[in-house]
Amino acid sequence: MENNKVEVIIVGAGPAGASAAITLARAGKKVLLADRADNAGDKNVFGGTIYAKQTAEIYPNFWKTAPVERAVTEQKIFMLTDCDSVQFGYKYASKASYKAFTVKRANWDRWCVEQAQKEGAYFAPKTLVKELLIENGKVVGIQTEFEKFYSDIVIIADGVNSLLAKQIGLRNEIKDKDVSLSVKEVIEIPKENLQDRFNIDDEDGCACKILGGPLKDIMALGFMCTNKNSIALGYSVSIDELKKHNIKPYELLEELKEHPTIASYIKGGKTIEYSSHLIPEGGYNCIPKVYDNRVLVAGDAAMFVNNIHFEGTNLAMLSGKLAAETAIEALNLSDCSASVLCSYYKKLEDSILIKDLRTHKNTIDVIRKNIHTLTSLYPELACDFFDLLTAADEIPKRAKYRKFLSKFIKSRGITASIPFVFLAMEKCFKK
Ligand SMILES: Cc1cc2nc3c(=O)[nH]c(=O)nc-3n(C[C@H](O)[C@H](O)[C@H](O)COP(=O)(O)OP(=O)(O)OC[C@H]3O[C@@H](n4cnc5c(N)ncnc54)[C@H](O)[C@@H]3O)c2cc1C
Repeated sequence: MENNKVEVIIVGAGPAGASAAITLARAGKKVLLADRADNAGDKNVFGGTIYAKQTAEIYPNFWKTAPVERAVTEQKIFMLTDCDSVQFGYKYASKASYKAFTVKRANWDRWCVEQAQKEGAYFAPKTLVKELLIENGKVVGIQTEFEKFYSDIVIIADGVNSLLAKQIGLRNEIKDKDVSLSVKEVIEIPKENLQDRFNIDDEDGCACKILGGPLKDIMALGFMCTNKNSIALGYSVSIDELKKHNIKPYELLEELKEHPTIASYIKGGKTIEYSSHLIPEGGYNCIPKVYDNRVLVAGDAAMFVNNIHFEGTNLAMLSGKLAAETAIEALNLSDCSASVLCSYYKKLEDSILIKDLRTHKNTIDVIRKNIHTLTSLYPELACDFFDLLTAADEIPKRAKYRKFLSKFIKSRGITASIPFVFLAMEKCFKK
């Protein structure tokens, strides 16, 4: 690198930064990808799945060579009461319909950065970026702990806290209600036991979401995913709820592990990792300005997480790619001002990223208002219903239907219950 100068500097080698780097390198641009970690992904926390579609657009056929753990062939939802559970799932019929893969971030991020390096990107690990370099009111590069690097454009992909976006006024502090703390354990289980418990084959995997149980009545969602020979188990909880309920994150995770349904999956396992991380969850209403003169913002730094569909990595990769494509256009025009870089937001708007976030711009508020219904009442009703359906005892079925129906109406209110009332009337009251 001549005189510490490249065309584009990317700060952060997570999914957003790596996809920006590879896109720029493929276009023949000189690009420096800087990350504070000793190795890409070392400090990155994750407990789930990467999505095949957007990933393959950047890394074609990635599953053939990338360090994926398992192809997700089943997605499940667990509704927990204090002791019981109802589980339902969607098992993909055909392997051709692989949609997602479980990965370990340390391995995955490293592989992605290696692909970018193979295309010609410079990677600088152990490089903590202290601030953006500003000269005559213009961003001209970065200041690391030890040296300065210069570029025409900086892509900020430094994750949820994004000190750099804050430095130039693109981001404010996130409000407590718009960010979640995620805590997670990786629990090692012999491969055969794991596959038996989840009823999956050698390469196949299962991704579960968990509602209720110890997480009832709080804005929290659990997750459980299968790696090759370990399970990632955790939950995320909104920071304001954490404070309001005075939750001790680790204790709540312990309670989740002790729930009889969850305990049966992790029985005999050994915790090999415990970690926590923030997830930006404000969605569409919290998207900051994502471009300025000589600067673009991508991934979590731009709050691109769709928490209704548990999507973050795919939006990070997509936004990194679109930021890189915008940078390429600007470099080719020799104009890196905001008037050219603003086309980044247009690209985001034309993609699923803004469309999906806009679709859900009020969904979290609705969930927040109905959190008791979703995490406490529905799991309870679902368990009651299956109990009613399956218990063969001396209580007449009609009495059971009446009891269930009256509980349902009392808890949901008459308007929400009308369709169910009609359905059930016949069974309960018709002679
Ligand atoms: C527990 C958990 C479970 C999740 N599950 C899923 C899931 O199932 N599916 C999904 O799609 N998403 C999931 N997500 C969200 C997903 O992980 C993020 O949306 C995604 O990682 C964002 O990528 P990014 O590149 O923007 O940021 P990050 O992955 O956070 O990467 C930012 C990078 O910037 C580096 N960095 C930060 N500051 C500096 C600095 N000053 N100098 C140099 N380097 C710096 C960091 O070291 C890091 O490597 C989950 C998140 C968590 C915490």
